[in-house]
Amino acid sequence: MDSHKVDAVVIGAGAGGLCAAARLAHGGLHTLVVDDKDRLGGRASTEEIDGFKVNIGAIAIEFGGVFEETFHTVGAPLDIRAPEPASSFFIDGKVIDVGRGGWSLLLGQLTKQASRILEKFADARSGNLPDGRQSTEDWLKGYTSNATVHALFRNLCAAIFACNAAELPARAFLTYFTSKGAFKKFGFCPQGTIGVWNSLGNAVRRNGDIWLETPATAIHTSNGKVEGVTVLRNGERVRIDTDLVISNAGPKATVALAGSDAFPADYIVKVKNDLRPAANIVINVASREPLINHPGIVTFGKTRRLCNMANLSATCPELAPPGWHLYVAYAVPVPALGDFDSDAEVALALEDLREQFANFDQAKILSIRVMRDDWPAQRSCAGYDLPRETGIEGLWCVGDAVKQYGNGGTQACAETAKIVTDAILAARPRCSAGRV
Ligand SMILES: Cc1cc2nc3c(=O)[nH]c(=O)nc-3n(C[C@H](O)[C@H](O)[C@H](O)COP(=O)(O)OP(=O)(O)OC[C@H]3O[C@@H](n4cnc5c(N)ncnc54)[C@H](O)[C@@H]3O)c2cc1C
Repeated sequence: MDSHKVDAVVIGAGAGGLCAAARLAHGGLHTLVVDDKDRLGGRASTEEIDGFKVNIGAIAIEFGGVFEETFHTVGAPLDIRAPEPASSFFIDGKVIDVGRGGWSLLLGQLTKQASRILEKFADARSGNLPDGRQSTEDWLKGYTSNATVHALFRNLCAAIFACNAAELPARAFLTYFTSKGAFKKFGFCPQGTIGVWNSLGNAVRRNGDIWLETPATAIHTSNGKVEGVTVLRNGERVRIDTDLVISNAGPKATVALAGSDAFPADYIVKVKNDLRPAANIVINVASREPLINHPGIVTFGKTRRLCNMANLSATCPELAPPGWHLYVAYAVPVPALGDFDSDAEVALALEDLREQFANFDQAKILSIRVMRDDWPAQRSCAGYDLPRETGIEGLWCVGDAVKQYGNGGTQACAETAKIVTDAILAARPRCSAGRV
């Protein structure tokens, strides 16, 4: 078996893994990233279909916050283009652009009880939050029974957190909308979301390497400390010695790689019982005729499963061949945190699309992906995250199963990477173990 020595190995080139690797490399640690896929970005990557750049997962990259700061810190260009206006609602066939009016303008148009709900948002802003057990749906029922408001809250939970309002703790919903970025300002990458990962990958390669199509097959530990990783590279087993491993594969896969006996018993219990993978359905649609003119993302009102849709080519025409519009629609199954019938849920989402857009049948469906189980929309729903520490010295997790409370998406993944690498770099002198 071939062997190497590096300062750090990152397993997985998803959002969390690449942000962590770029920060470590920038901080002076020679870092090797391995990923089993043939491209960067994990669940937020991009594929080419019939000349369209089709995103697998994330499309909206938030401005501001840790994600953007990571790119500035490591000197990676962040090529994202903001749609204007960015977010609107599509209710009863009409676009409602709430602009700067936000929640008060939106709720004010829909219900007489708006002021009661807004008061609760103000309470949340000052730290007065419901406990983690009450669902967003039950919390909202306390203030209004308006069906459109309930449908909107369901679709916001679905769009941001990939779950239903009955599944998301109200505490997580309110935390996100009152103290996180809440996708107020975002952009799309004109190369497809993979463009942002390629940029971050270049930053990693300044002080490290990235091996694609290279699965990690084992994490080695001894006496509670990490000692290295074995990977499968071009059919050969390669041992990489290191005392620092960051796993972006999710806690469950990380435990499988190191073996459950290596971990403290309470960590294994958490991995078994606390994770709640959240599912969604992605429908990429090409159309000669415009379906909607709004250039950003619309969130729907009353639907069966559909929650939101982005008009990608309006802001980034290079994603589609000339003469075509490219849209991506998202739906969330019921339940999103449990088992469901994928075919039936996709059928309901397509029914919604036909209902929302009279000319939908002339459009061409490029791909339909059901994100679930071990390749989900969120490895754990907001409110059900695990710690980033694994109980093994030198072995950390990053990504969307170990988010800060109430956060979501690539921004949350970047935040996990910052927390972990800040702790690592603060404890280590700048050093380099050598090149792989
Ligand atoms: C349909 C959809 C739409 C979304 N929309 C948005 C959005 O608009 N904005 C937003 O911010 N977020 C969005 N998200 C969420 C966002 O895409 C995810 O939260 C984020 O991409 C998850 O990143 P991660 O760091 O957890 O890594 P992952 O994406 O899970 O990547 C981990 C990588 O590790 C690899 N790996 C696993 N095991 C091994 C192994 N043993 N060896 C080597 N490699 C391994 C995997 O193949 C993968 O490439 C969306 C998600 C989905 C599914």
